[in-house]
Amino acid sequence: MKFATKLIHSGQTIDPRTGALGMPIYQTSTFRQRSIDHFGKYDYARSDNPSREALEEAIAELEGGTRGFAFASGMAAISSTLLIFSPGDHLVVCDDVYGGAYRVLTSIFSRLGIESTFVDATDLAAIEAAIRPETKGIYLETPSNPLLKITDLAAVATLARSRGIITMVDNTFMTPYLQRPLELGCDIVLHSGTKFLNGHSDVICGFAIVRDEELGKRIRFIQNGFGAILGPQDSFLTMRGLKTLKIRMDQSQEAAGIIVRWLSEQKQVTKINYPGLPEHPGYAIQQAQSAGPGAVLSFELDSFENTKKLLEGSKLSAFAVSLGGVESIISYPARMSHAAVPKDERERKGIKDTLVRLSVGLEDPQDLIDDMTAAFNTK
Ligand SMILES: *Cc1c(COP(=O)(O)O)cnc(C)c1O
Repeated sequence: MKFATKLIHSGQTIDPRTGALGMPIYQTSTFRQRSIDHFGKYDYARSDNPSREALEEAIAELEGGTRGFAFASGMAAISSTLLIFSPGDHLVVCDDVYGGAYRVLTSIFSRLGIESTFVDATDLAAIEAAIRPETKGIYLETPSNPLLKITDLAAVATLARSRGIITMVDNTFMTPYLQRPLELGCDIVLHSGTKFLNGHSDVICGFAIVRDEELGKRIRFIQNGFGAILGPQDSFLTMRGLKTLKIRMDQSQEAAGIIVRWLSEQKQVTKINYPGLPEHPGYAIQQAQSAGPGAVLSFELDSFENTKKLLEGSKLSAFAVSLGGVESIISYPARMSHAAVPKDERERKGIKDTLVRLSVGLEDPQDLIDDMTAAFNTK
């Protein structure tokens, strides 16, 4: 099946009891058992709920994994997955990792004896140099947030595999429509489903997907034990959002290309980070490992004044955190997604106070361009 068809038919999309198109919302905490010797498939909804299960099967199929797990947020998926590691283990992490992941790694997992080294993951030699005998995991995001840097996933996975190290990839920006890290040799895919997968800015959710069944059992044990599961209502909404992923992504990506061309002609814009630009240093790798550059870009402005004008003056693009919704979202990494990263650390990573991130939604791109023009022209 092609991806568009998989989106509609993956997982249990028909209610086995009634034939309803779409798994119902099983709003229950527990399930009645008939025999003291044999409990049914479902016993308690933290362990299993049909509404969540349908979504988990769908995301596993879409990413090409054996098992998928739905969590209460992207951070719940990330944090729960990181619990596969133990005190004394060491992780190598891409240096412009999502701010929330940076925060849990440096303030919670570090306290539990799991240490992280942050490296420029576009540089394979830097990753290799950071590996220690106790390194158990490599954590990547590509394109990274907010600088859209590209990591060669197959190359890192090959290196990791040769050392018995688990490779994890946060695939939020690309989604399985554009990039499937498990097919490139990585072990675990993570998502903030809050973004493109649900796509409607109305649910917080997260996913972990694995290829290896043994690893799947370990994460399943943590999901049930730690308990940061996605509820049935949000599972239903995410399943509904997921069905239109391809057409949303196609439209937003095309609009992003149009906006990038326009931005490149604006005197206030000094630099554009978008892996669809041939001059982007990761362009060739992105072409090879994904089906497109996506719908998120970032750019630098010539002054703080123009940065403020654009952020506060945009009327169509919501000045907000988050991305991947039907509505365009313009955000300010230095004070939003990366506020948890100390300023000097942030600047060293290239996240300047004049950097703006734009997630292109489903509006007509010309309207978005007119809106930004008006924002720049405010007195
Ligand atoms: C938003 C985001 C997260 C965190 O997800 P939540 O659903 O907000 O917990 C993780 N990684 C990336 C790349 C994100 O954009």
